[in-house]
Amino acid sequence: MTENTQRVVVVTGGSRGIGRAICKTLAAPGSKIFFNYFSPADREAEEAAAAETIAAVKQAGCEAVGIWANVAVSEEVTAFFDQIMADAGRVDVLVNNAGITRDGMMARMKESDWDAVLAINLKGPFLCTQIAARIMGKQHGGRIINMASIVGVRGNIGQANYVASKAGLIGLTKTAAREYAARNVTVNAVAPGFIETDMTAVLPEKVKAAMLSAIPLGRAGQVEDVAAVVAFLASDAAAYMTGQVLHVSGGMFM
Ligand code: NAP
Repeated sequence: MTENTQRVVVVTGGSRGIGRAICKTLAAPGSKIFFNYFSPADREAEEAAAAETIAAVKQAGCEAVGIWANVAVSEEVTAFFDQIMADAGRVDVLVNNAGITRDGMMARMKESDWDAVLAINLKGPFLCTQIAARIMGKQHGGRIINMASIVGVRGNIGQANYVASKAGLIGLTKTAAREYAARNVTVNAVAPGFIETDMTAVLPEKVKAAMLSAIPLGRAGQVEDVAAVVAFLASDAAAYMTGQVLHVSGGMFM
């Protein structure tokens, strides 16, 4: 990358929550941010949410493009990156952030809930990494950051599908780090604890209180707490780190 090259950042699931905060934090003049989003339930609301991310990124003097694409569908991922390459011609940073939960005790968990979570949380990052790393390899460098979770390391009652997806993502991170190191592509993971977003807003108050009481720093995490660590991993300061998992949990996991 020369001094005048535009830095191209790709964030999956950038319309809300942690993904939007990552887009905002990585927004800088001379960069261009592409993000995707996908909610079949309420497309109108999602378009509005995506427009909010675009406006926030533009405020920082950075270009932003939001693209409707499901990370779990190979053809949509390919089309997403085709559009990025046609527009910007390179990819410098990929943040595999998109994720969902479909919680329930394992004894009663539906196969469809297992499949949906694994498809979005684990197959999605695999598909995006395959394409992005190929592009980055040709550029002789790049950064891939995967959004895991502390539960992927310690397990969690009622989240067999989600935990398996995040544990798998940590394994994928370490393998991709080894496979792409020779191309100067680093692959790291961030493992948040309890962060205030739409994903955790739906949890019962009793569960939230129990989680809060288990956080040594005494507060829930904010999306900016996670985005700051992603920004570090995407920066020159982290050039010599690969295959690592950074926990952002207020000490909930140590
Ligand atoms: P969120 O507020 O629910 O946002 C999820 C984002 O992912 C949305 O932009 C959503 O877009 C997108 N998305 C969902 N399915 C998608 C798909 N198939 N294709 C493309 N985009 C899709 O969640 P969050 O709390 O910010 O979580 C972000 C990441 O952090 C997730 O991987 C999550 O597992 C991880 N994490 C969160 C916490 C926490 O406490 N919040 C803790 C640990 C890890 P649409 O709305 O359009 O679908």
